[in-house]
Amino acid sequence: MREETKKNLKSYLDSLYPILYIRHSDFADVDKVLLEAAAPNVRFYEFNNALGAINFSDKHSMKHCDLVEFLSSVMDDNDDDNECFIVLKDIHKNIDDPKVIALLRRIAELNERDDYHVKIIIIDSVENIPQELKSFITLIDVPLPDDEEIMTCLSDFASEVGEKIDRAVMDELAFLLKGLSAFQIKQVLSLAYQNGGGLDTSDIKFIMGEKEQIIKKSGILEMVNFKETLSDIGGLENLKNWLKRKEKIFAQLDKAIKYGVDIPRGILILGMPGCGKSLAAKATAALFKVPLIRLDVGRLMGKYVGESESNMRSALKLAETVSPCVLWIDELEKAFAGIGGNGGEVTTRLFGNFLTWMQEKESTVFIVATANDISKLPPEFLRKGRFDELFFVDLPNEKERRKILEIHLQKRDKQSSSIDLGRLASETDGFNGADLEGLIKDAVETAFIDNTDITTGTLLDTLHNAKSITDIQGDKIKKLRADLKAYSIKPASE
Ligand code: ATP
Repeated sequence: MREETKKNLKSYLDSLYPILYIRHSDFADVDKVLLEAAAPNVRFYEFNNALGAINFSDKHSMKHCDLVEFLSSVMDDNDDDNECFIVLKDIHKNIDDPKVIALLRRIAELNERDDYHVKIIIIDSVENIPQELKSFITLIDVPLPDDEEIMTCLSDFASEVGEKIDRAVMDELAFLLKGLSAFQIKQVLSLAYQNGGGLDTSDIKFIMGEKEQIIKKSGILEMVNFKETLSDIGGLENLKNWLKRKEKIFAQLDKAIKYGVDIPRGILILGMPGCGKSLAAKATAALFKVPLIRLDVGRLMGKYVGESESNMRSALKLAETVSPCVLWIDELEKAFAGIGGNGGEVTTRLFGNFLTWMQEKESTVFIVATANDISKLPPEFLRKGRFDELFFVDLPNEKERRKILEIHLQKRDKQSSSIDLGRLASETDGFNGADLEGLIKDAVETAFIDNTDITTGTLLDTLHNAKSITDIQGDKIKKLRADLKAYSIKPASE
């Protein structure tokens, strides 16, 4: 892939593209590709905000100056037939300055002349392309190392430190290192090596930890900490059984892929509020033994033109970085609200980007999307092939209510054997999981204050004063259920 990028870059540099915008955070890596792609007689100039003008080869500061001064001084270095590349790094904040826009535009327009050979290469981790420059800029995404390159990184590292790594360990490490840049791979490997003095399967946890750090630092995705497992969910047996099957694939992904099994893509869990959808997202990550990452689409909205789309691309790329992982999108219907209508162009484009990614992704990012209101969900999500399965979570039935009550009593270390759970379950029709949890919570509090044991009586008394979601929002629940039933989606409960 790297060869392909180099070839691409070379053809862009050779043709009439005056400004290339390379979105990448590993500047050293891009420098290397640039040097390899450029003709030998090219003159390089470099600028960054910290040091001003820089010597491209040794990275020493040549002159402290601002971007306007720098561009004005180098744009006329066009004395001979040799090309001149102006490399600008991390300038997304300066690029909106009208003087910078004017200078970049001038350089771009000069490139239409046969005797002008000064080109601009912007390398930035943030995409910010001013409207005025859009027609002059070509955006290039440098792909992350593929399997073969990761293997090369690994064997280079092993010979550097004089270690022999077992082939099976190499395969496993390479699988985990997917999604990291060449620089990050080297960093993680040397840290892991220093940590344990060798490279083996004990480093896998370490690599996962490093990947989590990358997510935390990014600020565009959220790492969710949780304790919940499948046994914390009362009912939803169909959903749980389906997940257990997929876990068998996730537990040996590498082998499964080689065998020809399709990588699980994800599920959409639709249904009543407070019935365990979020709980299921957390329990899925616990079951698959992978990190849980939350994507908040609202958080991706940026103020620059194209920034939101760029953030979405970064977020999805980042999720791939930590894959295998569970990517959780809560309230999916709100995340992409107003698509195609009054929600604005940006949301529609974000939605398009997300769908394309879902369709094409080959990574082991397992999506758990949750939503209440199917009528507000773009119908594209419901089409076959987007998610592996759609599940409908209804209010818990009697058997499930009994199990949920039992789980929440046990969570508070209360014996359920002396309590008539059957009676409570039959008297709580219309309650959701959160209501049932609230019932236990209130009864335990009362028992504590009254200095008594919790009994069926305490619970029935509490129930007398409790109101269920059906009591409070009956009409809304009826409508949600009717809308959901119209789609004949697989029930999450048995
Ligand atoms: P919303 O649509 O409002 O986000 P949700 O379906 O995601 O709701 P959860 O956040 O999973 O609901 O549930 C809220 C709380 O209710 C959970 O923390 C859990 O304690 C309890 N609860 C809900 N459903 C169940 C269940 N099936 N088993 C055990 N506890 C449950």
